[in-house]
Amino acid sequence: MKIVMKFGGTSVGTGENIRHVADSVTQYAKKDYKVVVVVSALAGVTNSLLEVACQAKKSDEKQIDSFTKELLKKHREAISTAITSKQIQKEVTQITEKTISELEKVLTGICYVGELTPKSKDYVASFGERLSAPIVCGAIRDHKFESQCFTGKEAGIVTDSNFGEANPLMNYTTHLIRERLGPLFEKGTIPVVTGFIATNQDGIVTTVGRGGSDYTATILGVALQVDEVWIWTDVDGIMTTDPKIVPTARMLPQLSYQEAAEMAIFGAKAMHPRALGPVIKENIPVRIRNTAHPENMGTLITNKPATNETKPVKAVAMIKDVAMLNVNGAAMVGAPGSYAKVFEVLGKNSINVMMISTAVSEANISMIIKRALLGRAISNLEIALLERGGVVSEVTAEDDVAVIAVMGANMKGTLGVASHIFNTVAKAGINIRMIAQGSSELNISFVVKEKDGVAVVRAIHDEFNLDKA
Ligand code: ADP
Ligand code: ASP
Ligand code: MG
Repeated sequence: MKIVMKFGGTSVGTGENIRHVADSVTQYAKKDYKVVVVVSALAGVTNSLLEVACQAKKSDEKQIDSFTKELLKKHREAISTAITSKQIQKEVTQITEKTISELEKVLTGICYVGELTPKSKDYVASFGERLSAPIVCGAIRDHKFESQCFTGKEAGIVTDSNFGEANPLMNYTTHLIRERLGPLFEKGTIPVVTGFIATNQDGIVTTVGRGGSDYTATILGVALQVDEVWIWTDVDGIMTTDPKIVPTARMLPQLSYQEAAEMAIFGAKAMHPRALGPVIKENIPVRIRNTAHPENMGTLITNKPATNETKPVKAVAMIKDVAMLNVNGAAMVGAPGSYAKVFEVLGKNSINVMMISTAVSEANISMIIKRALLGRAISNLEIALLERGGVVSEVTAEDDVAVIAVMGANMKGTLGVASHIFNTVAKAGINIRMIAQGSSELNISFVVKEKDGVAVVRAIHDEFNLDKA
């Protein structure tokens, strides 16, 4: 069997966890599995890198020294617990020190220039994986297995220059990965590849989006034509909802690519929304598995829907950190092209619209976008539309909302699901701000105040008995 195994930040949070990862990888290798490992940054490191980069931009140089010292300490501790051989410890420590000193220079540069571009942000974010992968590789070598460490760039993952959400150039990438990793992989060496990070055609570091190590894993899986891609994480698989919200959430043993993609897009964090793209075309199965419970086979994602599932509603998710943008104007009624103008302004400013709803009266369009982009969206719409005295008279926003998405392939054509959902929300005394249902009928999404989100998810999970098969 050929497998790509991706270990998320939650699976490599500490040296002890990394040792456990190396144990599990080498156990499979002993059983003649051919394994490629993809690894995320240690839990919390990517967030902290992005925070310190923002502080550096404000010319706050003091933070840099204490941050890098703390980062070095964290990784040194991981090295000393994950690896027993003094020689390997020394080699990995040297790489770690060199990488952190490079990071220090980058942060100081940002501090002096006072500018943090999407390009430099990706460069800073890449350090998390650049620090974790050598430790995982060292821990595997410590188990007396051949292993070699690669950055995404060294492995051959080439993307466009859409920094922060880069897209792989799949044909070129496949060619390079086969050339660089193929022979090693075939002879049983275990390549350890940094997740999340890649390069554009000019050799500049890019990232494939937050949580993007899942994407790296499926890209490698397709290039190396593996039998399955395993995403190891801290839950048993994809569940009926986030188990942090509803502890009785149930693991879904089987999902189709379409259902899993829908769930990922709508907030099931266990999987990156774009990660299924490459494997769907090649029909390579993906499994979500729990690092702490390797005896469970987790959620299997294939092109076949689960046959024994008849319930219309299968899962419910909450998407936080979003905002609702309302564009109003009586003159929009019957004015061809007025929606196009609104979306053109947002598109030009790289603002992705996640959800849209509009009334037949056409006097209002409501949209959901990422909360962090709200300021940019409002100001650009105001400049472009209000000043010209066009059809739009007002742009308003609510930044304290969350999207609730209710999903299930069997909702298609089942009568009364929407009314059942909305009655449940009403019974909980919660007001709905906006509703959208795609024509795929795989999900119904609506918007509530963020403070009510958890209560809505719990009420729906309970009402539709999602904890029972
Ligand atoms: P990793 O570090 O392994 O990539 P993530 O934090 O990205 O892990 O994703 C795992 C987390 O996703 C879980 O701890 C869980 O709280 C959250 N989650 C949200 N919705 C779901 C869901 N429907 N099924 C499983 N996990 C979910
Ligand atoms: N480390 C990256 C992040 O936190 C990628 C990942 O974990 O998949 O977003
Ligand atoms: Mg993740």
